[in-house]
Amino acid sequence: MKAIVVGGGIAGATAALALRHIGIDVTIHEAHEDPAGDIGSFVSLASNGLHSLDTLGCLAPVQDAGVDIPRQRMWSAGGHLLADVPRGRRSTENLHSVTLLRGRLVAALRQAATDAGARIVTGHKLVGVTETPESVTAEFADGERDTADLLVAADGIWSTVRRLLDAASPRPEYAGLYAVSGLATMDGVEPGVFNMTFARNGAFIHLAASDSEVWWQAQIADPVQPDRAGVSEAQWLRRTAELYQHEAVPSAVIAATTRLHPTVIFHAADPVPTWHSDRVVLIGDAAHPVGAGQGASMAIEDAIVLATALQAEPTLAAALKAYDAERRPRIVKLLDTAEDNRGVKKAGPVKRRMQALVMRMFVPLFYEKATAWLYDYEPGKLGTR
Ligand SMILES: Cc1cc2nc3c(=O)[nH]c(=O)nc-3n(C[C@H](O)[C@H](O)[C@H](O)COP(=O)(O)OP(=O)(O)OC[C@H]3O[C@@H](n4cnc5c(N)ncnc54)[C@H](O)[C@@H]3O)c2cc1C
Repeated sequence: MKAIVVGGGIAGATAALALRHIGIDVTIHEAHEDPAGDIGSFVSLASNGLHSLDTLGCLAPVQDAGVDIPRQRMWSAGGHLLADVPRGRRSTENLHSVTLLRGRLVAALRQAATDAGARIVTGHKLVGVTETPESVTAEFADGERDTADLLVAADGIWSTVRRLLDAASPRPEYAGLYAVSGLATMDGVEPGVFNMTFARNGAFIHLAASDSEVWWQAQIADPVQPDRAGVSEAQWLRRTAELYQHEAVPSAVIAATTRLHPTVIFHAADPVPTWHSDRVVLIGDAAHPVGAGQGASMAIEDAIVLATALQAEPTLAAALKAYDAERRPRIVKLLDTAEDNRGVKKAGPVKRRMQALVMRMFVPLFYEKATAWLYDYEPGKLGTR
């Protein structure tokens, strides 16, 4: 069987690797010349995503490219500790969450995919898809075409294939938050801890990436989507420093900034009703931009479930249906969680005080139980080539 994967990001590279595991001939077509660039600052992989990478034999390179983060601490705007929990895992899980620059994750996954025999063609932007009962053909902006049995669309939140499958599919909308992220040089930040401060103007994340390098991200709550055009790095930094001036630790981290990543706007979308036809299937953000620190982990799970279904089902059409049936309930549940998480980050002063109280009282009692469904998931076992 031959497959085309559209998009060489986290979902696309992992899907190519999973498809190679079950002996499928794979070509990734990626729009950008260098998708492993600096886009999106850092991402975290939770234990569910890491177990899926382990299934694909790709855990070690990803761990090596990132920072081991065993714990997550939540802080009030005033600097009081609200909760201290295992980061992205259950307390009994030995596999620690990994945080790494998105570009390095994509590079590690693409390397694993090519090592497994996948081809990657860059500078190939998909513009059209033609499906017949016998095959599917992808058309690219440069006029080239590729034909295969299966087309896996991993073309991200603004997916072209999603719209081609269903012109009425929901469009992502501004989620009321945007992220300014950067690198700071400072000592004294405890290693292995993902710190999240529920500040007056949105959540502030920081963690030690090495002895003196700190990665930070200000997730700024604003009902109006900011216009990024013409705003310089210095202006973003000044604006962010002003918004977090009342919080001591975030202020100190921002003041020690040596480099900023491009500002990212958060989007959310209603559940996408159509994920597949008989030969085309959506995975990753193309199917479900989830957020909640789980976008990368979910994309990786998708790839394994898809390959498992292709291996188990008698026809392609049946496999794509089985993939949809397996993934949809989990994704719908996660979309609700993501909405709740965004609500917590956008809270006003009164709601923030209530939340702080609730976090202090209930997180120690219920956090493990409430997150078990997320971290304990087994996406299936793959046969080897
Ligand atoms: C600021 C920020 C922080 C985040 N933090 C986290 C986190 O901590 N943990 C987490 O799990 N997730 C996080 N996410 C989400 C995570 O980055 C995404 O869920 C994940 O990257 C989705 O992977 P993907 O491969 O589906 O999409 P993408 O990473 O967007 O990749 C899509 C690829 O398809 C290519 N493409 C697009 N259109 C075409 C086309 N027409 N033809 C060919 N190629 C095309 C693109 O160039 C790109 O390479 C974060 C996102 C943002 C914005």
